[in-house]
Amino acid sequence: MQDNLDKIVIVGAGTAGVNAASALRQQGFEGQVVILGAESVAPYQRPPLSKAFLAKDKPPAATLLKPGAFFPTNGITLEMGQGVVAIDRTAKAVLTKAGVHYPYDELILATGSSARRLRCPGAGLSNVCYLRNLSDATRLHKSLRSAKSVAILGGGVIGLEVASAAVALDKQVTVIESAGRVMARVATPSATNVITRQLKAAGIRFALNARLARIDGVDGQARTCILESGEAVAADLVVVGIGALPNQGLAVHAGLLCDNGIIVDEAMRSSDPDIYAIGDCAAAENSYYGGRIRIETIHNAMVQAQIAASSICGVRIPDAAPPRFWSDLLGMKLQGLGGLTRYDKLVAFNGKNGVETEVHAFAGDRLVATETINLSKRQSELSKLIHPAE
Ligand SMILES: Cc1cc2nc3c(=O)[nH]c(=O)nc-3n(C[C@H](O)[C@H](O)[C@H](O)COP(=O)(O)OP(=O)(O)OC[C@H]3O[C@@H](n4cnc5c(N)ncnc54)[C@H](O)[C@@H]3O)c2cc1C
Repeated sequence: MQDNLDKIVIVGAGTAGVNAASALRQQGFEGQVVILGAESVAPYQRPPLSKAFLAKDKPPAATLLKPGAFFPTNGITLEMGQGVVAIDRTAKAVLTKAGVHYPYDELILATGSSARRLRCPGAGLSNVCYLRNLSDATRLHKSLRSAKSVAILGGGVIGLEVASAAVALDKQVTVIESAGRVMARVATPSATNVITRQLKAAGIRFALNARLARIDGVDGQARTCILESGEAVAADLVVVGIGALPNQGLAVHAGLLCDNGIIVDEAMRSSDPDIYAIGDCAAAENSYYGGRIRIETIHNAMVQAQIAASSICGVRIPDAAPPRFWSDLLGMKLQGLGGLTRYDKLVAFNGKNGVETEVHAFAGDRLVATETINLSKRQSELSKLIHPAE
């Protein structure tokens, strides 16, 4: 560790930011650690927001990332409701919306990502919802109870998890997806076939290869999604799950290199060596994907937090581990390992009920990724078999 390091400021109190603070302490950093978070609530986990949170009759309390005592006990200053609006790289300080300057020796940007907004006529109607944070989830929990028909725009992980919650509440649910299959970005055709079949059997309708033209409303409320084909989909609630964009505005304005994320090296250092970026907002080289990629998973946020803290503390950076993600869909647990961008052969094994599934993705003769449905016990074994891409 450099001797002159005294103050580390972390912008963003999500999984990446909080884990970076924790890792700095674990690795022996004794100076000041300050986390500045834009949200006004204690740091919480996002994955339950599209799962258990929506299913419970009353919206449960958020699942905290750390117990409240964690921060004072570890000498970490947590300042919530303190959105950072600018970085002054010359003075080495950040400025909050309230006008407070926080000087830093090293700065970690852990600003996450934001839901991509819908742009079409009707996008501003009052019951067109997004799901990114606790306040979105609280609103969606309420809207789901009063809706009869729900249209989900986007058949990605969040769209399908919300569709699962909605159909379990006996809503009429239609998933509108522009690609020919759901989860095309994160799962293989073998896994999506199983998932689509099960979700259809539960009553979810899929409009695939379908593009939204507009949303028609009555009295400012969405009523119908009109597809480019002319098809009308009833929707007194529209949930938009069309991807996320990195929160890189601060970095761009500070002159850091960005390209779909803040570009970082293998130590999570940006183009300014005193500024690190981690989690959803960072674009890093990943040997499992064979190139630079921005990954939106809890595993990635935790791994990159460890790497940044190790680098700042001058300790060995942990060995690369296969990326991993999971999704919970109506009794199906989908788990992915490795990088699913470069494969030329898939081998799928189906087990009990046609649901249990294990898929191996190969590039040549190398296993580069796997996915399983309802085979959680296979994860540790499979993670040892996966190779980085060339
Ligand atoms: C509903 C939902 C369900 C998900 N489910 C899963 C799942 O099942 N499995 C999985 O692996 N991943 C899941 N994810 C993705 C996962 O939650 C993210 O990859 C992870 O939270 C990224 O952590 P992060 O700290 O980089 O960003 P975030 O968790 O987004 O945290 C960033 C924080 O920075 C704050 N911030 C932004 N700008 C500023 C600023 N200028 N000043 C101060 N603070 C700022 C934000 O308000 C936010 O609180 C899910 C995401 C969502 C939204």
